[in-house]
Amino acid sequence: MSQVLLLNASYEPMAIITLRRALSLMIRGRVEAACDESVTLQGSSTNLHIPVVIRLRYYVHVPQRGVHWSRKAVLRRDKYVCAYCGAQIGDKQRGLLLTKLDFTVDHIVPVSRGGKNTWGNTVCACAYCNHHKGNRTPHEANMKLRWEPKRPRVTYLVASGEVPAAWKMYLEV
Ligand SMILES: [Zn+2]
Repeated sequence: MSQVLLLNASYEPMAIITLRRALSLMIRGRVEAACDESVTLQGSSTNLHIPVVIRLRYYVHVPQRGVHWSRKAVLRRDKYVCAYCGAQIGDKQRGLLLTKLDFTVDHIVPVSRGGKNTWGNTVCACAYCNHHKGNRTPHEANMKLRWEPKRPRVTYLVASGEVPAAWKMYLEV
């Protein structure tokens, strides 16, 4: 293995880089080791040990690529699970099997009250909960969100082949 996984300060994987590039970041004090496993880089006079996972000391803002908000994307993010009651496709609700068509995008703060089409303000809801909530906030409707809606995580790093065990918790292999 002659490559190093570079993490952001937030531990998000950023790139797979060469040992030389990792070394240069280390020399400049930009990164620190993020695991105990290391590889040896043969130097002219001495061997250098480079951790297979390194982490930037300062957070670098990476613009999110390709995840634009849309109703479909919200439903996909929430996997067609109702954020209020947990109902999902195939569940029975009042005697009927739920299908994709029974789910909709709910605005936590309703559009009529200034709620926006954003990742943080929208969740998947079953038609029943959506109707029950109506033009109210979850608090007013006495409904609880089962999770905090967030912008979906982009897996912009996908490794293939043999990868060090130390990388696996950061990557989709
Ligand atoms: Zn529901």
